[in-house]
Amino acid sequence: MSFDLIIKNARIYDGTRTPWFRGDVGVTGGKIEYIGKLPPDIVATEVIDANNSVLCPGFIDIHAHSDFMLLRDSVMLSKLSQGVTTQIIGMCGVSPAPVSEETLDLLDQYVGFTKAGAKPDWNWRSVGDWLSVLEKLDLGTNVGTYVGQGTIRIAVMGFADRNPTTGELSAMKQLVEDSMEQGAVGLSSGLIYPPGVYSSRDEIISICKGLMNKHGIYESHVRSESYGVVDGVKETIEVGERLGIPVQISHHKAAGKDNWGLVKLTLDEVEKARARGVDITVNQYPYTACSTTLRAILPPWVHEGGVGKLIERLRNTDYRKRIKEEIKTQTSWENFIKHCGNYNGVYLLYTPQTPEFEGKSLKEAAEITGKDELDTAFDIIIENQGLDTAGYEVMSEEDVKYVLKHPSVIVASDSIPAAPGAKSHPRAFGTNPRVLGKYVREEKTLSMEEAIWKMTGFPAARMGLWTKGLIRIGMDADIVLFDPETVKDQATFADPFKEAQGIEYVIVCGKIVVKEGKYTGISAGKVIRK
Ligand SMILES: [Zn+2]
Repeated sequence: MSFDLIIKNARIYDGTRTPWFRGDVGVTGGKIEYIGKLPPDIVATEVIDANNSVLCPGFIDIHAHSDFMLLRDSVMLSKLSQGVTTQIIGMCGVSPAPVSEETLDLLDQYVGFTKAGAKPDWNWRSVGDWLSVLEKLDLGTNVGTYVGQGTIRIAVMGFADRNPTTGELSAMKQLVEDSMEQGAVGLSSGLIYPPGVYSSRDEIISICKGLMNKHGIYESHVRSESYGVVDGVKETIEVGERLGIPVQISHHKAAGKDNWGLVKLTLDEVEKARARGVDITVNQYPYTACSTTLRAILPPWVHEGGVGKLIERLRNTDYRKRIKEEIKTQTSWENFIKHCGNYNGVYLLYTPQTPEFEGKSLKEAAEITGKDELDTAFDIIIENQGLDTAGYEVMSEEDVKYVLKHPSVIVASDSIPAAPGAKSHPRAFGTNPRVLGKYVREEKTLSMEEAIWKMTGFPAARMGLWTKGLIRIGMDADIVLFDPETVKDQATFADPFKEAQGIEYVIVCGKIVVKEGKYTGISAGKVIRK
């Protein structure tokens, strides 16, 4: 027996929730070839003594907005340093493909908040082209992608706030089918964002028919994560039930104090649906603050026609008055300012034309401008021309724990990488170690076996990644070693790029990419075409 790599004396958590066992693992040709107790004279090119650390499958982050970041930084230490070996992109309706020549400008604006300072040359058109662009990069992690419903709608209808014609509907369904043919894992939607917000339930069901013969999954950032969250979840269940396709709820939460506790009702609906045979699961990131664009604070009608139109409306005094009034009073749309309940809980993260506000709360920004908070926010949105992200403190800790414990819930980051110099939500660097440190070791919300399963075997099975997520002979050698006594997230809103502690080794496709906590300079990630 000889191996490329052996890891000895590990506490092995195999990704199935089986209680850990002590053993050695042998890797050859990028695959796990041996699990058990190796004789002491065994030959291997490389030997790691785990010294009783945890060995488990590499973490699989099935909800990441890393699309454009990969063009700027294909290695992404933000992921590797927390043990993530596979990420799935193209989330919340936003994917870089397919692209239509006529609406490329609109798409470029639409994807703005995920651009992370990359300057895409848009030299791809289809999802297949886009995956080929990714294949030419030195990827740190393995990467698969959804196709975005918003991206598809822009390709066919721009930002039109109306129902599609029969012709437009079949063009969108065709793009879903083509994207699946070319290797997408499914269709994602972001139904609070224009143009997804303009799409009716019937429209969504019609275009999801493009997933039916491909075992594609439909994942939705539901129409409301606050007052309407129960209906939003029911809508996704209906899509899965009517079409018989797997569906998933993105970054599940109940935003706003008025709505805290609604996750009990939504997850009851999920359980009832599963009992009826609906193939539905949920994902979540382990924080009480969410993050999206800053312009998401505006009522939906302000977004119609794209960012150019939005800015025109914000410049108009009468409209400005009406928008302020609606932000202060309305609950019929995803009103982030109302969910926060104050301006201290609104963090400005990425506003490149006004960098003096990055890292500040909206309250602090208003103290600088001397204007009221909403005028300050509107001016920042105007100045930044579609590049604006913010964090919002909207969830309760009790809900976060309730969702995390639920057996249908997977851990996923929803990370939006920051542009150079900007701040970001700490989940980009902290998600997985935060679960292992805070929610396993410190608060005992989950057992270690359950937590690891929610990051490995469960997401792998969910996405149909049948060679990943388990420590088993023949599986891809995507492996993490960490110290269960010290593993911990360190990133905060003030210091969002602080790498986690306790992640000792990360192995991607059999190659050691993190050794004793340091990046080795090797990139071994592969593109996943389903
Ligand atoms: Zn989302």
